[in-house]
Amino acid sequence: MIRKLFKNLSRLAPGRLSMKALRRSKAPAHEPEIHKGSRLGIDRRLISNAASRTVEELQRAGFKAYVVGGAVRDLLLGIRPKDFDVATNAEPEQIQRSFRRARIIGRRFRLVHVMFGPETIEVSTFRALQSDDIELDEHGRVLRDNVFGEQHEDATRRDFTVNALYYDPVSDQVLDYHHGVKDLKGRVLRMIGDPEHRYREDPVRMLRAVRLAAKLGFEIDRATRRPIREMADLIRNVPNARLFDEMLKLLHSGNALEGLTQLRAEGLHHGCLPLLDLVFEHRDPRGLDFVTRALKATDARIHDRKPVSPGFLFAALLWNLVNERWLQRHGQGEHLIPALNAAIDEVIETQLDALAIQRRYVSDMREIWLMQPRFEKRQPATISRLMEHIRFRAAYDFMLLRAEAGLCDAALAQWWQAYLDADADERSALIAQTKSQRVPAGSPRRRRRRKPGATSGGSESAGPSPSD
Ligand code: ATP
Ligand code: MG
Repeated sequence: MIRKLFKNLSRLAPGRLSMKALRRSKAPAHEPEIHKGSRLGIDRRLISNAASRTVEELQRAGFKAYVVGGAVRDLLLGIRPKDFDVATNAEPEQIQRSFRRARIIGRRFRLVHVMFGPETIEVSTFRALQSDDIELDEHGRVLRDNVFGEQHEDATRRDFTVNALYYDPVSDQVLDYHHGVKDLKGRVLRMIGDPEHRYREDPVRMLRAVRLAAKLGFEIDRATRRPIREMADLIRNVPNARLFDEMLKLLHSGNALEGLTQLRAEGLHHGCLPLLDLVFEHRDPRGLDFVTRALKATDARIHDRKPVSPGFLFAALLWNLVNERWLQRHGQGEHLIPALNAAIDEVIETQLDALAIQRRYVSDMREIWLMQPRFEKRQPATISRLMEHIRFRAAYDFMLLRAEAGLCDAALAQWWQAYLDADADERSALIAQTKSQRVPAGSPRRRRRRKPGATSGGSESAGPSPSD
């Protein structure tokens, strides 16, 4: 149960830097190192217009304002940031007054969304380190915090040194309070302050460590990594919706396979993605091959800046389970489609509760799965209905991946590839070709009953087929 505690800051301050960290420090703790952005390789063309205008407007109104956090880190790495955050000493109402389209959001952590066309910039007021008014739960997790403070305090409140950099695009200055530039050059992810304490305040930081290390190809510093295994269970106290967001970010990191592997290596998956054990320990190597291919295809799409559907991703992660249960039920004599439906219900019921997957993604997954057997029925009416389906492209890609991993007939995938490329005459020829190959109704193969657990649809295929 959550209880409200009013603590003074000695307990909360993440600024309890180790002696080693203090010795390493050249500048006094409150004075940042200042670097020239262009000399560090910041390409200003990668900064969105909306972010620059937000900073400029706030400065014009007499406030301090900087691009902050992941955006600065990414700019220094030459990556185009996917979103921009701005930090300022203006309070939420003052921020709001400086813009035509801005609204204050959040209750527990108030900040302002400033809108420029389709882009939204998240603007937050520098947060204080010391406060009597920070609400914690019984595990020490911060629940509410609206006390404003100095910039150096705001820096110390951030998670990793490379995420505590402030960039002023007007003066081209990078302000570095925690040797983030040095860690960035050394490609190290290092927690600010005492890692154990920081994980207790917010267990999501453990997931962020793994995710950002995978996304950036950074090492997690030893002291930052060490407590994770032991503290992994604290993840269970985090609201599901937040965990799900974090999982989505991990799957969209551009290095999802590495991220999931690390998540499991640190034992963090127990609290947020327990199905990973089933994915990685699947007894059929084709199962693991399928998931690996799906994740690699996702990573490639992210690198090409193409959209990735969460429904597709979760459908891929869970397919082995669905397929196994489908085979089993079908093998015991259940008809193909009811067997698939029942297998899907079973998996959704047992696996998805822990994940808090939003309903719309679950319905995407269900559609992708239910369309799989329909690829085998290659009659004109079925084909056109299938191709008109809103989820056709995802289901088609899914079928191709199954074929690549040997989980369905490679000839089927080739047939569909040819069909989609073909003109009307060629399409008729392809359909005629399948007719001549179709097993006639009433043949012994149609009547044969499957043994439980047996594979189906021909020697190589590992999924039931409608001709069975
Ligand atoms: P991404 O590339 O995924 O956006 P990010 O570091 O920018 O990574 P955001 O969630 O956008 O992640 O957060 C922006 C910034 O806010 C971070 O860089 C960090 O400074 C701070 N921050 C975010 N989450 C936390 C947290 N749990 N604890 C402390 N600081 C955080
Ligand atoms: Mg970000």
